[in-house]
Amino acid sequence: MRHITKVMLFLFGLQMLNIPYAVAQKTPATAGRRKARKTAAASSSKSSKESAASTGTKDETVVQIIHDVSPQQIQKNIEKLVSFGTRNTISINNPDAGTSGKGVVAAYEWIKSEFQRYSDACGGCLEVNTDERVLEPTGPNSRLKQPTNVRNVYAILRGTDPALKNRIYVVTGHYDSRAKDVMDANAPAPGANDDASGTAVSLECARVLSKHKFPATLLFLTVAGEEQGLLGSGHFAKRVTELGLGVEGVLNNDIVGGNRTPGDTEQNNNWVRVFSEGIPATATPDQIKIIRATGEENDSPSRELARYVSEVGRTYPGFGQFTPKLIFRRDRYLRGGDHISFNEKGFAAVRFTEYREDFHHQHENPRTENGIEYGDLPKFVDFNYVANVARLNAATLASLALAPAPPVKPRLLTHELENDSKLEWGPAAGATAYEVLWRKTTDAEFPQENVTRTTETKIDMPESKDNVIFGVRSVDAKGHRSVIEVPEAQR
Ligand SMILES: [Zn+2]
Repeated sequence: MRHITKVMLFLFGLQMLNIPYAVAQKTPATAGRRKARKTAAASSSKSSKESAASTGTKDETVVQIIHDVSPQQIQKNIEKLVSFGTRNTISINNPDAGTSGKGVVAAYEWIKSEFQRYSDACGGCLEVNTDERVLEPTGPNSRLKQPTNVRNVYAILRGTDPALKNRIYVVTGHYDSRAKDVMDANAPAPGANDDASGTAVSLECARVLSKHKFPATLLFLTVAGEEQGLLGSGHFAKRVTELGLGVEGVLNNDIVGGNRTPGDTEQNNNWVRVFSEGIPATATPDQIKIIRATGEENDSPSRELARYVSEVGRTYPGFGQFTPKLIFRRDRYLRGGDHISFNEKGFAAVRFTEYREDFHHQHENPRTENGIEYGDLPKFVDFNYVANVARLNAATLASLALAPAPPVKPRLLTHELENDSKLEWGPAAGATAYEVLWRKTTDAEFPQENVTRTTETKIDMPESKDNVIFGVRSVDAKGHRSVIEVPEAQR
């Protein structure tokens, strides 16, 4: 009975999500192996080295995508989202929710129609879907007052390569907002920065990326219920886990408005912070033992995804001075966001947030008090900054979706005590070669000069595994590179 229910749930879910059943979800063990995709180019022989600065091979499609991102479109979308007055998730229960044109229902309908508009422009290339669930209040601290339908909206750009299309990359932002009192479903909650900015990034990625085809699948997500306790993302992550969908990476954008409050001299609009967890949330005690014994506390799949973002930032000059700033921490100190819902289901997920937040413009009712203007208003958002964040997201998604799959289960062989390092891996879909990288245990990223290319699926490296951290990635004929995987110890 239980089995039947499970199967039915599975089939139902497939239909609801409208995504083909894909590769199994990464286990934390293999997930933990996704490594930094650092610099790129490579040598043709084991001993040759490169010392050029950093970058991967540029792809003209990605250059075009960066060019197509529009600060004007982003501004329009943020202003539209603000126009709904509040997007508090519990405003769905307001008596006039369906007719007032205000509140979270109106926002949801508009986002759906906007995704549909992009799809119409590309001949129906996007599949626009919703993911809904009525959640019950769960005790006195619940941020729901009554059963509440929490509704996510998303669009899928399906991959074109049968061997790669089950790999799914997700970009997300939360479209709900809140006033100072999170339980107030009526007070103005413009949420221009938190998080119309992230919602606008997801929408803009859908608009510009849907003009192209990719071997792997992209999913543009906007979720509700973040302010009520990561409800929408929690539900969505649970859903993709139950379905066994091959979500390979999640880019969460939350508070990416750049804050241009007059007089703020501390903001740095050339930086966006990229947060990533260290120890995977789902690592078992046995896996943590291995992480401790191999010194891989700094090499979770999420961190490798963050390093991939970093390399994309170095590869494409469309960003000008703008650059990702990796923060090796799950989120801001003791704080959280939607990427954590994905981390907690074993997925690689990172968070983008502006360099310096202005707390007068978050979770505050708009007002002026003692000369300070409170409220999360569009006038404090730097639309060019949001556009740069969108460019970085779109370029990362495109690079990931153009790349071959990562090497299959890279292993570091340890049955002999020896000072060199033998690695093996399985061939990856779409790969024509592999790159083995290493970095000092104290390095944040893999230096460009420590890249060795091979067409084989094994290698003997002269560096000692005692002293360095290895990673392996796949490369195709055009120079697209996968995320890096850290080899598993094989005794
Ligand atoms: Zn937020």
